[in-house]
Amino acid sequence: MALSYLQRHSIVEKLKTNHYDLLIVGGGITGAGIALDASARGLKTALVEKSDFTFGTSSRSTKLIHGGLRYLKQLEFGLVKEVGSERAVVHQLAPHLVVPEKMLLPLHEKRGFGSLLTSFGLKLYDFLAGVKPEDQRKMLTRNQTLHQEPLLRKDDVKGGAIYAEYRTDDARLTIEIIKSAAQHGAEVLNYCKVLRFLYQEGRVVGATVREEISGEEFEIKSRSVVNAAGPWVDELRQLDGSKQGKHLHLTKGVHLVVAKEKLPVKQAIYFDVEEDGRMIFAIPRGRTTYIGTTDTNYNGNKEEVHATSEDVAYLLRAINQTFPGVNITNADIESSWAGLRPLINEEGKSASELSRKDEIFEAPSGLLSIAGGKLTGYRKMAERVLDQLISRTFSNRKLSDCATHKITLYGSDFKNYNEVKRFIASITDRLKSRQLPEGYANYLVGNYGKQTELILDDLQAGDADVELAKAEMRFTLQHEMVCNSLDFFVRRTGMLYFDKPRMRSVLEAVLLEFKVKMNWGDEQVTTERSIVDKALAGVIDFQ
Ligand code: FAD
Repeated sequence: MALSYLQRHSIVEKLKTNHYDLLIVGGGITGAGIALDASARGLKTALVEKSDFTFGTSSRSTKLIHGGLRYLKQLEFGLVKEVGSERAVVHQLAPHLVVPEKMLLPLHEKRGFGSLLTSFGLKLYDFLAGVKPEDQRKMLTRNQTLHQEPLLRKDDVKGGAIYAEYRTDDARLTIEIIKSAAQHGAEVLNYCKVLRFLYQEGRVVGATVREEISGEEFEIKSRSVVNAAGPWVDELRQLDGSKQGKHLHLTKGVHLVVAKEKLPVKQAIYFDVEEDGRMIFAIPRGRTTYIGTTDTNYNGNKEEVHATSEDVAYLLRAINQTFPGVNITNADIESSWAGLRPLINEEGKSASELSRKDEIFEAPSGLLSIAGGKLTGYRKMAERVLDQLISRTFSNRKLSDCATHKITLYGSDFKNYNEVKRFIASITDRLKSRQLPEGYANYLVGNYGKQTELILDDLQAGDADVELAKAEMRFTLQHEMVCNSLDFFVRRTGMLYFDKPRMRSVLEAVLLEFKVKMNWGDEQVTTERSIVDKALAGVIDFQ
């Protein structure tokens, strides 16, 4: 299976002519998970995404596969049990991409929970999630906590805890699930927007879509449709005339990125903000540390979500109060991102009190919409949608049971995490022979897993760093349906967030490679360059 930009034409032809069992709207983690589950069960499946895959929330999260410790505070035991248990499952499915990360939780003199309550809470957290004994939480004394993280404010820390979580890259996880769905026979297309639904005797039977690159409109016929449009779920329900009763409540979350030397935390840390008691993360990643998140109500433009100067001031205050020696200012911020949580509205509840549980809405037309939920729970959400869909529409068909807990994701051909580490070591050796920085091995294997070999096999002679970026670009064009430079720099490599210096140094070469591979004229290259420049400036422009 090659999910290649160069095959868009043939995918469009199939979408026009085939008759599907299921059409999924939305190429975020929710749609991706449903596409994989549906195609693996034997349903003829199509998925369309109006922008690039993962354009919405699924490239803008905190990038953790976590059980949501704070949901214990809200007594959401069912949610914690489900997403907590899912962590180990998703790690097994993609051990290079969902990586164990011990989290430090400092305890403070004058705020937050006491040691006893924290100790019990974390024990319950481990118990609900079935965490292996060797990974279970460890309580720390004051000295141990300060040794673990010397940057913490000394007069305020009274102890701490270490507990197990996993970190990931949300966009990479989603794209590998989409590729795995395509491998199981799903037809998937980005830059293809659902404009309206098709009906037969009041039942939804497909959609009219617009392929956004050519502007061509066509119909996709399908026995059933699932709306997995994240923050846009209500717009599609409106198109269907079924936006009644419950509706979405969007909240915005912002993350800031600084160079690691500016905030050199030794490990991921989850701490409470002095001024309001909310919990936020500081997470090391490659040459950077990122900080977040905020949680505020949002009613603005969903296509362009940005961090404001207020968001930035809040996060910087929180960081500088917790790590008093670091003195981070606006000038230290290298990048940022902002995403929208598609939560279900609950009257009278504030942004951070809203439940993260997913819900399925079934419309009279048969349209199933799913919203709420977490990146971490994507597999179980998909299973619930498919179970409901099959019982309503395909009960007379002999379909397989849900098997996504056994379907290793694309590029994840590793038995366990130790094998990933050995693979990283072998890639390090290959990189050395081309005088490439050793640190790239973690980045490449974390991003592409076993597919790193395909990229390195395609490395041409010349400046190794530039050639590597060009090889990555060719790979993502041929295998991941990259259609433009931001797809590559934001949602396939994360360079806009985590490695702006490298992005700047390879930019011209990558644009030229796009020009050659995609037959762009000079004008197109100029347009792309200005889009990238705007994005580079936009991630540090806080209005
Ligand atoms: P999206 O990713 O937004 O996907 C929906 C897609 O539908 C979009 O790409 C959109 O372009 C497309 N679409 C919309 N309309 C149309 C149309 N008409 N035609 C075609 N396509 C359309 N969860 C975790 O487990 N761990 C975390 O660390 C975490 N951190 C978070 C931090 C923040 C700040 C936020 C906001 C969320 C976080 N979450 C986390 C939650 C998680 O990211 C979301 O629940 C998840 O990404 C939602 O995915 P989705 O597929 O439902 O929506």
